[in-house]
Amino acid sequence: MTIDLSSKIRDVPDFPRPGIVFKDIMPLIADAAALKQTIDAVAEWAEPRKPDIILGAEARGYITGGALACRLGCGFVAARKPGKLPWRTVAAKYALEYGFDQLEVHADAISAGQRVLIHDDVLATGGTAKATVELVEQLGGEVVGLPFIIELTFLNGREKLAGYDVFSLLQY
Ligand code: AMP
Repeated sequence: MTIDLSSKIRDVPDFPRPGIVFKDIMPLIADAAALKQTIDAVAEWAEPRKPDIILGAEARGYITGGALACRLGCGFVAARKPGKLPWRTVAAKYALEYGFDQLEVHADAISAGQRVLIHDDVLATGGTAKATVELVEQLGGEVVGLPFIIELTFLNGREKLAGYDVFSLLQY
């Protein structure tokens, strides 16, 4: 039976700030069949791109990103908020739908020429994804695709990622 995955996404108005409708994936990942259907669908898109690494952004990108990496036989690399990673890092700053932030990855996490998929739960303005593209490319990796579960199309994140192969399962 195919599940309507959008029925598993909870809209939370005015979180974390007034005016933002937060797309909460927790009901989706708590449901075994919905989680499997999500990972299978993203993996089907991702597999032909032959990735070596899935890079997930803190923090929800780790959950589905880890599952995706395991499903595809890839390694997983975590992009984290400043000061969280214990080893030498490279960093990129970015603008959020609701503020500014910075992401870091370990300087030795990606080798030159490795094929990297950048994954997160939501593509909003594209600022986070663009920053992770910069991190991968600083380290000599090749970004072979950016699959998301949800895309907020009215925020035009794809424009910031022009020239890259972007995919989303659910569009709003
Ligand atoms: P952006 O950099 O604007 O594309 O924002 C993407 C990041 O912020 C992702 O890690 C999302 O999880 C989170 N995010 C931004 N807007 C929302 C939203 N409306 N609902 C859920 N997560 C969001």
